[in-house]
Amino acid sequence: MKHRLSAILAIGALYLMSAPGVVSAKNWGAGVPPKQADRCTIQDEDSQCTAQNGTHTVWVLSSVNSDLKAAITASVENDYDDSSSNNTDINASMVSDPGAADVWVFEKDDAVANRWGYGTCTSDSTFGESGLNEWCRPQAIFFNNDHESEWEDDAHPEKRRWVTCHELGHTLGLRHPNDVDQNGNYLESSNRTSSCMYTGVGGSTWPGNLYSYDREHLRDCYPHHTIGDPPQCRD
Ligand SMILES: [Zn+2]
Repeated sequence: MKHRLSAILAIGALYLMSAPGVVSAKNWGAGVPPKQADRCTIQDEDSQCTAQNGTHTVWVLSSVNSDLKAAITASVENDYDDSSSNNTDINASMVSDPGAADVWVFEKDDAVANRWGYGTCTSDSTFGESGLNEWCRPQAIFFNNDHESEWEDDAHPEKRRWVTCHELGHTLGLRHPNDVDQNGNYLESSNRTSSCMYTGVGGSTWPGNLYSYDREHLRDCYPHHTIGDPPQCRD
């Protein structure tokens, strides 16, 4: 176990020091117009249905800010793990073994100052399929150290709730409800400011949880996907 952990930490350090270790421009994350008309659908270029057998496991590097880690844990349990009041069809959990995780979470100094965090594949990820159906595992989330004071802000816990729910959502293929499709229409026709996937945050608007359409997207895609197969989503 000691051997394995030190190997993983070395990989983690690589991310922080070496941008080429990160594979960017994959279709993981918010997607780029005009290819975001649908979310999590079969054969869709931006499909990111990576939960295997309906599970989604998250591992956080020990040095990640403790307030942020607590918010991540709360979001995994309260937003993503299936329950009678939170119907997602996903068994989401935190794990202590990175080798068993679908998502690795790190902090880094991000040169893009306005970016609170982002998800990506890494050079250590396993890739499957190709082209329109390419997926990777594990995915990585990087939270920007520049925003640490904001997610430590106990007077405004909604900020860390928003950012953690948001980035975790991207690892499961959720998009921004306020992005537009190729016809210029919002991805969600209403209640866009009610989801943590909303990006127009500020002032008093910091949605900290998924909205019903987000959970519907998750239900539509899980637990029908096994790593190695293209996304299997219901109609
Ligand atoms: Zn986003």
